[in-house]
Amino acid sequence: MGDHAVVLVLNAGSSSLKFSVYQVVAADEWPLEVRGQIEGIGTAPHFTAKDGSGSKLDEQRLGDVTRDAATALDFLAGWLRARYQGVRVLGVGHRVVHGGARHAAPIVVTPKVMDDLKTLIPLAPLHQPYNLAAIDAVSERLPDVPQVACFDTSFHRGHQVVAEVVPLPQDIRQAGVQRYGFHGLSYEYVASVLPKVAPELATGRVIVAHLGSGASLCAMKDGRSVDSSFGFTALDGLCMGTRPGALDPGVVLYLFQGRGMSAKDVETVLYKKSGLLGLSGVSNDMRVLLESSDASARLAVEYFVFRAAKEIGALAATLRGLDGLVFTAGIGENSAEIRERICEASSWLGIELDRAVNERGGPRISSPQSRVSAWVIPTNEELMIARHTGSLLGLRAGRLKAASTS
Ligand code: ADP
Repeated sequence: MGDHAVVLVLNAGSSSLKFSVYQVVAADEWPLEVRGQIEGIGTAPHFTAKDGSGSKLDEQRLGDVTRDAATALDFLAGWLRARYQGVRVLGVGHRVVHGGARHAAPIVVTPKVMDDLKTLIPLAPLHQPYNLAAIDAVSERLPDVPQVACFDTSFHRGHQVVAEVVPLPQDIRQAGVQRYGFHGLSYEYVASVLPKVAPELATGRVIVAHLGSGASLCAMKDGRSVDSSFGFTALDGLCMGTRPGALDPGVVLYLFQGRGMSAKDVETVLYKKSGLLGLSGVSNDMRVLLESSDASARLAVEYFVFRAAKEIGALAATLRGLDGLVFTAGIGENSAEIRERICEASSWLGIELDRAVNERGGPRISSPQSRVSAWVIPTNEELMIARHTGSLLGLRAGRLKAASTS
């Protein structure tokens, strides 16, 4: 690989480090060079990488020295160096789950920004510390490379107060308890391609359904978020792979008081054992459930669809009507059956599916006469992060030229 410049995108979780390397070229185009991940950090670390066209480049088991974000990054840096000698990293963009109420946009990381983001750890203890650890690890290893934090919450800032507030006493609200919304980078990406893919929706009332292992809906008007099914945490709203979605808080009280469970155990139930997995007792993977004839697997799928349709109705009420419904993420992009069942359950809103096009995958999957159109638009959160990183760091033609001659 020759001498060229790249932006590195990192998405660090508790046990995985996902990465993408994008070439920096003159225009706002971001050719993908490599995408991959280290999974099983802390247990059985495993590395995979694919090139921009999806062909496998490498796969290996890693030793147990890869035990946290810092050591995972050491491995990744070594791998990238060996493969891409002479390549200059002009910036690193990170997915950061929580930007709090203040950060309505991505931001260049400084020590002060890090201090601020660390205060949000109690609001997202399962994600924020790992996101920030990756930023610290990059700062130590590449102190001269600027970093950009891109938040899952930013796209949802600017909601009306009623859509953001939670009806609890003031002292609790003042501590930051409000509805934030997540999956914002995915929604922002979808909003960014609407003018090209579905121009009639770019200025309309749209619900985007991000249905992956985490699942949520975003109500958008004129390409901006006005409401989300996610609230204070990514536990609210839709039924997910292992999270229940909307749940009577009395159930949580019962787990503490009636069953004497510890906070840690309740957390495990809510984040890891519920949702599709809890209902089916079989799997959190929609593919497995759709293929199963087991009654509880069927119930899990039925509940997933029921809940999605119910929340679509709620967000259509926020929007006071609906022009389009967009499906995205693992389930939304790949499961014609789930799309069909959700559209069927939402037909009262004026959605009429074209079954044959839905089977083929879209992009427009509603019939020509459907009053509300339905779409499949693949999401790309990493590309959104690369774009933000490029624009915040001013990685354009002129500056690139200067960098390459210096
Ligand atoms: P993540 O939130 O981990 O990024 P994804 O958006 O990749 O999740 O979605 C992962 C989920 O997508 C899997 O758990 C699986 O249930 C679902 N999925 C992927 N392909 C299909 C398919 N063909 N049919 C049904 N579900 C699918």
